[in-house]
Amino acid sequence: MNAEQVIQQFSATGVQTCFHGRHINPQIYADLNGSNWSIKDYEARGGYQALRKILGQDGGEGLTQDQVIATMKDSGLRGRGGAGFPTGLKWSFMPRQFPGQKHLVCNSDEGEPGTCKDRDILMYNPHIVIEGMAIAAYAMGISIGYNYIHGEIFEVYERFEAALEEARAAGFLGDRILGSNFSFQLHAHHGFGAYICGEETALLESLEGKKGQPRFKPPFPASFGLYGKPTTINNTETFAAVPWIIRNGGQAYLECGKPNNGGTKIFSVSGDVNLPGNYEVPLGTPFTKLLELAGGVRTGRQLKAVIPGGSSAPVLPAHIINECTMDYDSISKAGSMLGSGAVIVMDDSRCMVESLKRLSYFYMHESCGQCTPCREGTGWLWRLVDKIQRGEAKPADMDLLDNVAENIMGRTICALGDAAAMPVRAMLKHFRPEFAALIKADAAASQAA
Ligand code: SF4
Repeated sequence: MNAEQVIQQFSATGVQTCFHGRHINPQIYADLNGSNWSIKDYEARGGYQALRKILGQDGGEGLTQDQVIATMKDSGLRGRGGAGFPTGLKWSFMPRQFPGQKHLVCNSDEGEPGTCKDRDILMYNPHIVIEGMAIAAYAMGISIGYNYIHGEIFEVYERFEAALEEARAAGFLGDRILGSNFSFQLHAHHGFGAYICGEETALLESLEGKKGQPRFKPPFPASFGLYGKPTTINNTETFAAVPWIIRNGGQAYLECGKPNNGGTKIFSVSGDVNLPGNYEVPLGTPFTKLLELAGGVRTGRQLKAVIPGGSSAPVLPAHIINECTMDYDSISKAGSMLGSGAVIVMDDSRCMVESLKRLSYFYMHESCGQCTPCREGTGWLWRLVDKIQRGEAKPADMDLLDNVAENIMGRTICALGDAAAMPVRAMLKHFRPEFAALIKADAAASQAA
């Protein structure tokens, strides 16, 4: 089944739910209407059947831990938080026989500019995340989990807490779940709004009550995670995909997308479109189709460029993105990354120097200051772009800007350094004449004076 057929199939099943001005083409999130988030509604949609299935509470024999992990590997599900690491493989890294406490963590610290999908999942379908986490905990032999929720969305935190209470009362969380030998305690944790706490080791530090700064790696969380114990961390959307995969099989999920890019993905489409919102479409969907679902470029304007995977993803000009399909491999081949799936659309009225200045300010502000190339370099990037935008730069400043970005990349403790540098390099690569025009304009003005 190709992407177009899958979209049509979902379109025939009940299609676009719309709430808070956002639209979702549902597969995993079918029939959401903004008020049917409770456990009763979730079970009516087939919720918690996957958990019953693995525990043998549906009349079947149940699934072993190995079978669950094998199903996840078959699905081709890749982490939806940004890195795109294969989920089944990550789960297989957990040392299941470790004698002490192991932890499961959901990363709901959604802070990447442009991204607004995880908060919608937690707000409108929180039980799908709880069920996904319970299945993951079962597969990896984990008895305690935490959901770290971004600090600026308190309403979402309260909704998730309410869903936890429902799940505990119904016997889907706690000791001896559904009468089985499997026990899993799940807690919500409210962050404080720092972007860097979305980095998994900074998140762990914050969860431990410390300053949220990334750790040196290795060791990785699989061996030294929360409180120094083996820990698996997945994104909210990743956990939300799990129940559907267990119910329908890994192969069925894989076939929704394309090889190496299994399933559907939620894209947060923002910027200069007529219908900004969250759209769940199969991986491999043409960009032009996604843009069409989002109502097309603002009326009367032309597409200029797109940041396809959140603010840290390199920008792609219209003629390149128009040829792409929305999946990890196609976007990577085009020179960018799918990241968190935040698609920021820019029309022909946008100044790329101004856009880059805003991005650079953000990364300068969010640097945790722990390592020199990032702490000092992000400030240099912003100051140089600001200088260019104010028309006070010399031609050599463009090369200096590129050089500073190049020297940040790969030289920092965490990926924030790269996240700050990549947009700079891509903007200079694709839109250098816009930067040069501001410098020339100033040079001409100086001469005239
Ligand atoms: Fe902190 Fe930046 Fe270094 Fe990451 S790269 S540890 S955010 S200073």
